[in-house]
Amino acid sequence: MPTRIGEKFSEWFEWVIEEAEVYDYGRYPVKGCGVWRPYGFKIRWNVLKIIRKLLEETGHEEILLPLLIPRSVLEKEKEHIRGFEEEVYWVTHGGSDELDVKLALRPTSETILSLYEALWIKSYKQLPKKYFQICSIFRYETKATKPMIRVREVTTFKEAHTAHASFEDAERQIAEAVEIYRKFFNELGISFIISKRPDWDKFAGALYTIAFDTLLPDKRALQIGTVHLLGQSFTKAFEVRVQLKDETLDYVWQTSYGISERVIAALISIHGDDRGLMLPPNVAPIDIVIVPIYSVEVKRNVMEYVDNIHKMLVDHGYNIVVDDREDYSPGYKFFYWEIRGVPIRLDIGLREASSNTVTMVRRDTREKLEIPIDKMVSSIENARSSIMENLRARAWKWINDNILYVKDMDEALKMVNNGWRGILQVPWCGRAKCGLEMEDKIGFRTLGSPIDEDEVIGNHKCVLCGGEGKTIMRLAKTY
Ligand SMILES: [Zn+2]
Repeated sequence: MPTRIGEKFSEWFEWVIEEAEVYDYGRYPVKGCGVWRPYGFKIRWNVLKIIRKLLEETGHEEILLPLLIPRSVLEKEKEHIRGFEEEVYWVTHGGSDELDVKLALRPTSETILSLYEALWIKSYKQLPKKYFQICSIFRYETKATKPMIRVREVTTFKEAHTAHASFEDAERQIAEAVEIYRKFFNELGISFIISKRPDWDKFAGALYTIAFDTLLPDKRALQIGTVHLLGQSFTKAFEVRVQLKDETLDYVWQTSYGISERVIAALISIHGDDRGLMLPPNVAPIDIVIVPIYSVEVKRNVMEYVDNIHKMLVDHGYNIVVDDREDYSPGYKFFYWEIRGVPIRLDIGLREASSNTVTMVRRDTREKLEIPIDKMVSSIENARSSIMENLRARAWKWINDNILYVKDMDEALKMVNNGWRGILQVPWCGRAKCGLEMEDKIGFRTLGSPIDEDEVIGNHKCVLCGGEGKTIMRLAKTY
């Protein structure tokens, strides 16, 4: 099996999603489409449960919009259609009839929702409004596709759309969205940096975009979440106007923010190891696997004891699998469940049965502990929270160890030419010309600047023009 860290990461990723039966990719005759297998679907479901809860407790309501968008609607906002034109799939026929108006498979839903907001929202008293949907979107990616990371059917697109009476309230919403994503990734133990994307890389039709990036084991950055201040561009195009408190009319202010199955790609990549998946306990489809170990003579004793333990744990609400398959050795079973990343394994043989204990093995440290049965549940609970903390700490160490601030261009170039990879931070004057030239020279893509003033280091000169360094620019090899 391939190693996770470094050049072989892509091979490792493809190996693990296949071996752990998460996602079947590359065998379907349409490029860029994958199949969520039962185990993967459960992981996906548990991840979505977390984001649904975070959105619902902040007043977001779930909706479902049509998949097809008429060309006339998609092209109403000019910047938007310019940005997406090359990525849209068109439906041109219904049966053998050619359609009068071509229909796009939604690449995102700002246009559809704006069309409806014009009908639904009449007064500032109805605002703010916060909607979200979880659906498939389609984008004709021309770059090489990659399972979950660069697909043509994005099957797990969570898009939120909000409407506000003022610019200030829309900006307050941006802060709320950033906070929601911060909590979401934190619950998954995924480390990230938050950057305001440079103007040349913002969402088509937005005033600005804030993005969450993580760093995969090959030291390339992966965008895992984006938050856009749309301003009034869509509401002007779609005539979404409300009466304000002072009785004047104004266009509504909008934001939108999204995540996709890239979050699950990140979850798998950041927490796994060379042995397979390593799932955080809060999203693992199986909490505990029990492997009974016996010879024919003691089978009955051991299995009676295992059944008791099984019942006790089910009563505590855990999802348990007892791997009592006859024709497989315990060694095979250990390997099998390690690949699937089950957080806790209990090995139970005659020794455990006769001493009223279980042997608990943690997936993350693979540490073995013999535990008396009356302490079993509390030990499992402790192990679960300790696994979560450990995964989170490992993830943050990884990204922090691979962020480097360099204030001199020659030094940066020397490092990159010597093969250094990670997130490079350099002082920047804020001008597009310098930012774009950095991309060219260094051969990394610009991720943008911190949104938090505290993260802007020092008071150094722009690495390109020598002008005042107003902020820093982050650059990395990206997906
Ligand atoms: Zn400059």
